[in-house]
Formats: sequence, C-alpha cells, structure tokens
Amino acid sequence: MKKTIAVIPGDGIGPEIIAEARKVLEKVAAKYGHTFVYDEVIAGGCAIDQFGTSLPKEMLEKCLASDSVLLGAVGGPKWDGVAKEIRPEAALLGIRSALGLYSNLRPARLFPQLADASPLKPSIVAQGIDLMMVRELIGGVYFGEKRTVTLENGERRASDEMVYSEHEIERVARVAFETARKRRKKVTSIDKANVLDSSRLWRAVVHRVAEEYPDVECSDMLVDNTAMQLVKNPSQFDVVVTENMFGDILSDEASMITGSIGMIPSSSLGEGTRGMYEPIHGSAPDIAGQNLANPIGTILSAAMMLKYSFDMPEEAERIEQAVSDTLDAGFRTADCMSEGMTRLSCSEMGDQIAKRV
Ligand code: NAD
Repeated sequence: MKKTIAVIPGDGIGPEIIAEARKVLEKVAAKYGHTFVYDEVIAGGCAIDQFGTSLPKEMLEKCLASDSVLLGAVGGPKWDGVAKEIRPEAALLGIRSALGLYSNLRPARLFPQLADASPLKPSIVAQGIDLMMVRELIGGVYFGEKRTVTLENGERRASDEMVYSEHEIERVARVAFETARKRRKKVTSIDKANVLDSSRLWRAVVHRVAEEYPDVECSDMLVDNTAMQLVKNPSQFDVVVTENMFGDILSDEASMITGSIGMIPSSSLGEGTRGMYEPIHGSAPDIAGQNLANPIGTILSAAMMLKYSFDMPEEAERIEQAVSDTLDAGFRTADCMSEGMTRLSCSEMGDQIAKRV
C-alpha cells in the first residue's frame, strides 16, 4: 500500500522524535511491502520565523492533501510573546479545525515494565491502568467567543464562552461508545453538570446516545471527582469521554500516572479516515537538541496512524510489540530511567525499537 504522510516535525524536541518515528515506519514499510511518502510541513514556531505565521496556507494544504498527519510538537518560550492569532498552538487548532478532527483518543496504559516510574503507590499500580480518554477537540471554551474589555473604572474584564451544540456532543459520544465496544464495554462521561448548563446538555445527550448501546455500561462523574479518582482508583476506568478543556487537563493527569508523559500517543479523528497523530507532550524546550527525549509517544502515535487511518492493524501491533520488547530488554530513556536499566539516547531508543519491528 502507498500512503502519503504529512509530517510536521515542529519545534523543540519535535524534529528529534519525528526522526525516530520515521525510522520505525521505514522498517514497517520494508517488512510489509508498503511505501510511505513523507511530505514535510513547516508549522509552529519555526514557521513563524520563516513565514511570519505558524500555519501558512500552503502548509495546511499539504495536510489536507495527505492520507494522514504525523506531528512532533510545536511551541517554545521563543514565541511566547507573539500575537495570539499566529501563536504556534494556533497551527494545531487550525489543522484540527480544517480537517474536522472532533475526537481525540489518548490511551493511558501502564506498561508493566514501567510500574516503578508511576508516582502512584505500588498497591494502586498493581490493579493495572488501561484507560482510553476520548476528548472532544473542536468545541467548548477553546473555540468559544473570547473578549477582553476595559470597564468604565479602567479595570479589564476577560471572558471565554463555553459552547456546545447537541450534534457536537452526540458525535464524540458515539466515538466513545464504539471504542468501548472494542474494549471492556464501559463508558464514564465526565462533566460539571451541578454548575454548568453546557454540562447538563452534555449529560442529557450522552444518556440519549447510551440507549443505542445497551451492551455498554454508562455512568457519569463530576470532573473534580474524576481528578481524585484517577489517582485513587484508576483501574475503575475503561473509556472516559469528556469535553475539550476537561479532557485537556485530565488526560495529562492520566498520562502522568502511567510513568512518563513521553510514552503516550494520541490520535485525532473526524468523519473520514484521515487523522492527526501526535504524542501528548509538548516541545520540551528544556531538553531540546540534546538527543535526550523519549521518542516512544511519537512511535506509538505512528502505530495508531497505521491502525486507525491506514487499516494496518497487524503492522501497528508489530510496533507496539517492538516497544514492549525493547522495554523488556531493559532499555530506557532518561525520563523513565530506573535502577538496573540501560540508559539510551533518543536516537538509540529509535534504533532499538526499529531493530525489533
Ligand atoms: P512539555 O510537555 O513540553 O514538557 C513538560 C516536561 O516533560 C518537561 O520537563 C519536558 O522535558 C518533559 N518531556 C516532555 N516530553 C518529553 C519526552 N518525549 N521525553 C522526555 N521528557 C519529556 O510541556 P511544557 O513545558 O508545558 O510546554 C513546552 C512547550 O510545548 C510550550 O511552548 C507549549 O505551549 C508547547 N506544547 C505543545 C504541545 C503540542 O505541540 N501538541 C502540547 C503541549 C505543550
């Protein structure tokens, strides 16, 4: 099979981790007889430097013309002061919006080999952590109207509107129930229905969709309680579905309890098969350019791309197994290093995983 991948290395550690994902993809291509064509997209801070904007139109067009998009990370302190319309993050929102990617899937799974790296007590970790966070991606407060006004007394007031329509909730709820059907058949819907109107609508629509999935258990949980339950009893969760901002925050918490933020992949999908795949972490400016980053989140994102966008489940599993085998062999990058393990650089980790594909 021949597939065109729009590759966005981005900023900070982005180019380093993307290089390792490509290394692994090339091994898959050789082993299974596929051709992956990489169309490099300049977006994020580096695009601001080169073109004056984080997502030039021709770069967005490359994404629209591809079979799928693979992203490293964008942003960094260098661009913290730029106008909000051209900020590095605006490139991501622009691509998600243009591609209609309304659902973001982030697995938070503890590799048993990394149990030591979890900040949770061994007695909690021993129960296992294997949940899928389904986050609504192109609605809610990040996309609502934003206003900063100066009042008559000179004080400034800012507001961000959190808006959801029924169809936006319904389609992401459906993704959660379909995902649960392929897993342990349990959906927990997260909201703040005791306070927010948008959450009350969220809850009502999720319940309506749940009726179409009688084989899937569905329950609600308030977002503040969820923040506690994720550290107290994470094994209770299978699929967690929530709106954009709650999902942004909770998925970082969920990733941390599994050991390292560098391990977690994500996929963003809309109606078709084209998606955007990226590790959940940022550009890690503190370790950029030092060959220290953990490339596993990006490599597993490439595996998700093969599974969800290219219908290559066997190839995806091959990558996941190669990652697991590499951890079994005692290899770690600095972020999840523990006693008795062998410490590898970013590129050495890519080599070891590619070798085991
Ligand atoms: P971050 O995720 O970049 O880093 C947080 C911490 O985790 C740092 O100590 C970093 O060194 C470490 N870390 C992250 N990824 C790692 C990896 N693969 N291997 C080893 N260690 C890793 O978050 P931040 O510091 O809050 O943000 C840095 C920049 O990234 C900001 O400009 C932010 O806006 C941007 N950002 C981008 C994305 C994205 O591109 N999707 C997401 C989040 C943040």
